[in-house]
Amino acid sequence: SQIMSRGLPKQKPIEGVKQVIVVASGKGGVGKSTTAVNLALALAANDSSKAVGLLDVDVYGPSIPKMMNLKGNPELSQSNLMRPLLNYGIACMSMGFLVEETAPLVWRGLMVMSAIEKLLRQVDWGQLDYLVVDMPPGTGDVQLSVSQNIPISGAVIVSTPQDIALMDAHKGAEMFRKVHVPVLGLVQNMSVFQCPKCKHKTHIFGADGARRLARTLDLDILGDIPLHLNIREASDTGQPIVFSQPESDEAKAYLRIATEVV
Ligand code: ADP
Repeated sequence: SQIMSRGLPKQKPIEGVKQVIVVASGKGGVGKSTTAVNLALALAANDSSKAVGLLDVDVYGPSIPKMMNLKGNPELSQSNLMRPLLNYGIACMSMGFLVEETAPLVWRGLMVMSAIEKLLRQVDWGQLDYLVVDMPPGTGDVQLSVSQNIPISGAVIVSTPQDIALMDAHKGAEMFRKVHVPVLGLVQNMSVFQCPKCKHKTHIFGADGARRLARTLDLDILGDIPLHLNIREASDTGQPIVFSQPESDEAKAYLRIATEVV
């Protein structure tokens, strides 16, 4: 048992944080960060008594600074912990705050791991009810390390209905199951595009691939987000749709997902 316990990961809660929800995807560009940002805003919007944070551990391609319209160096607290930056009521921390936007992220192995260690352990979150974590895409060392170092309430997996994205999402779900992180369900993103002029609906990446995968893996579909210009524009201008257009159908789709995950 000595040997067994040495091999076991040391899970330690993040101080002050009640629940950690990770947002993951098999592949890049499927809308994982957009979902993480809008989920964080939706959790706060659905229950104003809840304090919500957003942690971007997508160290190679942090998108939270841009999507949350934040930049700058976090201040240090008296105990030398980094203070998150705040916007739209969400406390945010990202690798993007710690390195220049144009600096090449050519770190490998240990450097990434030390960055992850900083982001997980050297942030003063205060008291949070939910911390939404934007994972890097795929099933690499970072995902494994995060899953093994902190207790995670559940993982939300984002995929488009395209086969290649679904295959990778499948691998992602399997990885979380292996490390005993409950998979809360799948978010199907960009499944349908409705022409704003003629209202015709087109399933650009396929109609219901994520639904099929959900059945195969016995998982819930947490929501279906359409491919919509407003979602893209809102993200790119740092005014996420749940914040800037909370009454829109697109925002409502994220607000519903938030009710499913807690
Ligand atoms: P990932 O985190 O998976 O790499 P992002 O969330 O960064 O993906 O999304 C990739 C791009 O697609 C971004 O420009 C984003 O604004 C856009 N996008 C994501 N979801 C949608 C959607 N439902 N409709 C329109 N654009 C979207």
